Amino acid sequence: MEMDVAGIVAQWIEQSNKIVILTGEELSSESGLPDFLDSGVNPHIRDFRENKEIKANYWKKIKEIYPSIINAEPSPSHQALTELEMISGLDCIFTQAMYGLHHKAGSSNVIELNSSILWVNCMSCGKDYSTDEILSMIERGDEIPKCAGCGSDQLKPPLSFPGQPPPHWEAREAWIRLHNADLFIIAGASLEHEPVASYPFLAKERDIKVVIISENQSPADDHVDAVIYGKPSQVLPYIVGKIKEGITIT
Ligand SMILES: [Zn+2]
Repeated sequence: MEMDVAGIVAQWIEQSNKIVILTGEELSSESGLPDFLDSGVNPHIRDFRENKEIKANYWKKIKEIYPSIINAEPSPSHQALTELEMISGLDCIFTQAMYGLHHKAGSSNVIELNSSILWVNCMSCGKDYSTDEILSMIERGDEIPKCAGCGSDQLKPPLSFPGQPPPHWEAREAWIRLHNADLFIIAGASLEHEPVASYPFLAKERDIKVVIISENQSPADDHVDAVIYGKPSQVLPYIVGKIKEGITIT
C-alpha cells in the first residue's frame, strides 16, 4: 500500500463536505461472499418467467446459498466506512454488492445499485417479501413460491437478471448524489460495467476529486487524482486511523 498517498487522501477527506463512496465485490469477497451477478445463479429473465423448472432450480439454489449470505460478517472495510460516516462529511455509499453488509456494519446512507438479495418482489402485483419469508414457503414444500396477494408464481429478488436493465431509481439517485459531491472514492469496485464505468469520468468532468482503492487495475486509473493499489480492508482502516489521529491532536 502506498502510505503517502493514503495520508494525502485522508487530508482530502478532512477537507471535503460531500463525499460519495462506491464499493463493490472486493468488499464482498473480504466477507467471504462471491460476486453474485457473475456467479451464474441468476437465469435469463425470459427463461425464469416462462420455465417452471428453471424457477424451481433457482429457488433451490437460493435456499442453499442464503444461509452463508445472512451469516456473513462485515469486513474491516465496511467497518471503516461506518466510522468514516461518523467523523467526516460522508454523503452516501453506493454499492454494487447486494448482501446488506454496509447496513449490517451500521452505515445509514447506502444506495444498493444492484438492489438486494434480502428481499423478493412479486412481478405481477408488486407485493414485497423478505427472502426469509419466501424460503420458509419453500421449506413448507412449495418448489416455486407463490404470491400471497395475487397467487402469481412470478416472484424474484429485485436485482437484475440477465436480460433486465439495472434498477432505475438507484442509478438516478447515485447520479444526483455524485453530481453534488466534492470527493468520490471508489473502493474495491469493478469499473467494467455501465453505469458505474462512467462514474469516475463524469466526476472528473465536474472537477470532483476521484480516488480509486483496489487490488486491481481499472480503465479509469490514469484519469483520476489518486490510485492506491491494495486491499480495501487494509487501506480504508489506515485512512480512517489517520483522520482520527488528526482529530485527537487538534
Ligand atoms: Zn402478487
